[in-house]
Amino acid sequence: MKRMLAAATAWCLALAGCAGEEPAAPTPTRSAVPTSSPSNDAGAGELALARNDTRRDSVYPEYGDPLVDALRYDLDLTWTPGEDRLTAVETLTFRATADARRIPLDFDERLAISAARVDGEPVEVRTRGHDLVVRHPVVADRRYELVLEYAGTPAPAPAPSRRGDFTQGVGWSITPEHETWTLQEPYGAFTWYAVNDHPSDKALYDFRLTVPEPWAGVANGVLTSSTTEDGLRVNTWHLSEPAASYLVTVAFGDFQRTDLASRSGVPIQIWTDADGEPTPGDTAMTPAAIDWLEHVLGPYPFDSFGIVVVDNDSGMETQTMVTLGDSAYSLSAPVIVHEAAHHWYGDTVTPADWSDVWMNEGMAMYLQGMWEAEQEGVPVEQKMDEWAELESGLRARSGPPAAFDPTRFGDGNIYYGPALMWHELRERLGEDGFFEVLREWPAARANGTADRAAYLDWIEETTGEELSAFFDDWLLDSTTPRRD
Ligand SMILES: [Zn+2]
Repeated sequence: MKRMLAAATAWCLALAGCAGEEPAAPTPTRSAVPTSSPSNDAGAGELALARNDTRRDSVYPEYGDPLVDALRYDLDLTWTPGEDRLTAVETLTFRATADARRIPLDFDERLAISAARVDGEPVEVRTRGHDLVVRHPVVADRRYELVLEYAGTPAPAPAPSRRGDFTQGVGWSITPEHETWTLQEPYGAFTWYAVNDHPSDKALYDFRLTVPEPWAGVANGVLTSSTTEDGLRVNTWHLSEPAASYLVTVAFGDFQRTDLASRSGVPIQIWTDADGEPTPGDTAMTPAAIDWLEHVLGPYPFDSFGIVVVDNDSGMETQTMVTLGDSAYSLSAPVIVHEAAHHWYGDTVTPADWSDVWMNEGMAMYLQGMWEAEQEGVPVEQKMDEWAELESGLRARSGPPAAFDPTRFGDGNIYYGPALMWHELRERLGEDGFFEVLREWPAARANGTADRAAYLDWIEETTGEELSAFFDDWLLDSTTPRRD
C-alpha cells in the first residue's frame, strides 16, 4: 500500500465504527471422523504451487482459519449496475489441514447463498457476521471442491485503521456511477466471496467477469478472453501464481485499455476511465518503473503487470494488477514505483502474519526513497534524514513496526522505521552484501510466505552477521534506535 508523506492530515481522521466488535470464528472439531470419501489427494499438479502452511493470525485472529488451505478460487461474477447486484458462482478448491466436522470460511452474511455443494453433493451452510460454516466433514490433507451460488449488494466492512483512505472501509465498494472496486488489506475479500481471508493462505485465481457493454471487468493475472454476447461483455482472467486474498482485485467499470511493455518484455496493461487520458498521471512511466526495479532487485517475478485506475484515494499492490485511485498523488511516479516494488516484497513473498506487514512496507518505502533520491539528484541519506524526523512520533503513536496497535493498521510506523532500518543495514553490510540480500530473498521464497523469524534467520545466514539485537531494536522497541 502507498504511504502519504506530505498529507499528514489524511492519517488521523477519526473513523467511526473502526475495529467494530466481531463474533469469534467457530472452532473446528478436530476429532471428527468424516463419512464421505475425499475427492482425491491434495496439492497435486499446478495446485501444489498454492499449498501453504496456514496459521491463525496474531493480530486479527478472527479472520481466516488454519483448517483451510485454499488452492484455487474460480470466481464467475456478474455485475448488474442498474441494481448494484452481484451474482456469483464460486468454486473453491481447497485442502483440509486437519480432520474436522465443518469447513470454516470468511463470507459476508449480507450476501444470500442459494446453493452450496461439496464435491457435487448439496450441503447445509450457515452465515453469521463474516463467518460461513459449511456442514461437511473433512479429512486432513485431502482435497475438496466447494461450489457456492450467491447474490446481493456487497458493502465494505469497517477497517481496523484510522487512515483517511480507509474511511469507506475494506472490501467491495460501489461508486455513485455504479462502478466497483476493492481494497481489502488486511482483510475484506470476504465482503464479495467466500475466502480464507488470511495472508498465510495463497491460492491461484480464475475470474469470469460479466457486465453490460461497453463496461468491462478487470482482475489479477492475464486477460485470457474478451467476448460480447447479448449486450454483455465477458472477460476471463487467469492468475497463474498464487496470491493472498488481500492482493486480489476486481473492478467493473467503463474502461479503456493501453498496452505497454518493460524493456525485458513484461507485458503491462493500463486500465482507466474510457473518457479520460489513456495513461493518466504518471502511468506512462510504468515500464520505466519495472526497468529500474529489475535493475535493483532482479527479474520481475510474475508473467504480467498492470494498473487499474478506480474512483478512490488509495493505492494497493494487488498482484500483477495494481489498484490506484484517480488522484494526482495516487497516479504519481513514486507511488507507481512503490506498488511495483511490492511485487518483489509482499506479493511473491508474503508475510505469513499481519504483525510482519513491515516486511512489505519497509522495503517498498526504502526502494521508493532510493528512486526518489535518484530522481532528485540527492543522496539517499538526505531522504532518510527527512524520514527520521517523522519516525519517533509515528512509533510513539502507533507502536513499534512489528508490534503495532491493531486499531491503527497501515499507519506510518510500519513504513518509515523499517525503511530507515534497511538503510542502516546497507551501511553495515556494504553495497554488495546489502543488494545481494535484496535480490536473493524474493527469488529464494518465490510464491511463498514467511514470518519474521524465517526472514531474519535467512538474512543472518546469508550475511554471516549476528543481527538479532539490531532487528529487535528497530522492529520491537518503543523508541527509535540511534542511527549511525
Ligand atoms: Zn506499500
